[in-house]
Amino acid sequence: MRWLPFVFMVASYLSTGQGDMPSGRNAVLDEAARQSLERFCRELAVAERASIAVLDLGDMTIAATSGGDDLVRAKRLPGSVFKIVTSMAALTTGTRLPEPFLCTGSIVLHGKEIRCWLSSGHGELTFETAFALSCNCFFASLGDRIGGEALLRTAGKLGFGRTTMFSVPGESSGGLPRSLDAVEVPLFAIGQHPACRVTGFQLLQASALVSTGAGSGSGPFRSVRPLEALGAMMRGVVRFGTGRKADVPGFPVAGKSGTIAGGVPWKYSGWFVCFAPYDDPKVAVVVCVPEGTGSDKAAPVAGKVLRYLSRIIR
Ligand SMILES: [Zn+2]
Repeated sequence: MRWLPFVFMVASYLSTGQGDMPSGRNAVLDEAARQSLERFCRELAVAERASIAVLDLGDMTIAATSGGDDLVRAKRLPGSVFKIVTSMAALTTGTRLPEPFLCTGSIVLHGKEIRCWLSSGHGELTFETAFALSCNCFFASLGDRIGGEALLRTAGKLGFGRTTMFSVPGESSGGLPRSLDAVEVPLFAIGQHPACRVTGFQLLQASALVSTGAGSGSGPFRSVRPLEALGAMMRGVVRFGTGRKADVPGFPVAGKSGTIAGGVPWKYSGWFVCFAPYDDPKVAVVVCVPEGTGSDKAAPVAGKVLRYLSRIIR
C-alpha cells in the first residue's frame, strides 16, 4: 500500500469516516517548534480574543491550539466558509451558472429573498470571483442549481456532521439537516441554514483535505481536479478577495472567510480557515473571533499566525 497517495487515504477516511487516521508522513513542526507556536498562539488568542488552532499537514496532527476547547465543542453556524462545500459540490457534479452572473445585492429564490452582504451588489461575477468576494446571491443560486441532496452528500464527504479524524475527547459532531426543501437549499449553500452547525476542527479538517489537491498539480494530485480547482479559488480569496488581510509575503496563503450575523451578545462573529504555503501546503490554520467579521478580524489574526509559521518552517 506504500504507493497509495496520501491524499487518497485522507479522502477515503473522510468520505467513509472509517479506518485509522492516515499516518506515515513526517511532521513539519518538531516538538520545540510546536512549543514555541503554542506559546505564540496562546498570547495572540488572549490579545485578540480569538480561538486559534494549527494543523501540521505533514502528519495530520494538531500542532497548537488555544482558546480552550472552543474550536472542539462549540457548534456554530458556518456562514460563508461553507461556500467551500457548495463549491466542492459544484466542481464534483460539474454544475455551473451562466457567466457572467449579475449580483444586484439581493435575489429571490422560491419566493424568498436572499440578500448579499454587499447591499449595493457585486455586479458581474465569475465562479472564481464570486468565491473570492463571497457573493451570497451567486452561491444561493449555485446551490439551488446543485440541489440539496448533492450538497448534503458533499458536506458529509468533507467531514461535516461527525467528529473529526483528530480524535479529541469531548468533541462535538456539529450538525447537518437530514434533508433540505427548495427554500432551505439556498440558505444551506451560503452557510446560513439554522440546523447546519460546524466546529472549528471540522473546518480545519476540510481545509486540510482541499490542501491535498493544491500546489503544483503534479504527480498524484493531477487526478484530484476538484480539490485542485478549489485550492486555487481559496488562493484567490487571499490574493484579491475577502482574505487579503491574511496575506504573508513569500508564504502564499489560501483561505476562506465567514461572518455570522446576529451573534450574541455581539453583532457579528467571524471565521477564517486557510492553508499555506499554497504551492506546497505544510500547515492549516483556523481562527474564530466572537466579535468582528471574518475578513476584518479573523483573517488578520490568521495572518499573524501564518507569518510566525513562515519563520519557523524550514
Ligand atoms: Zn453579491
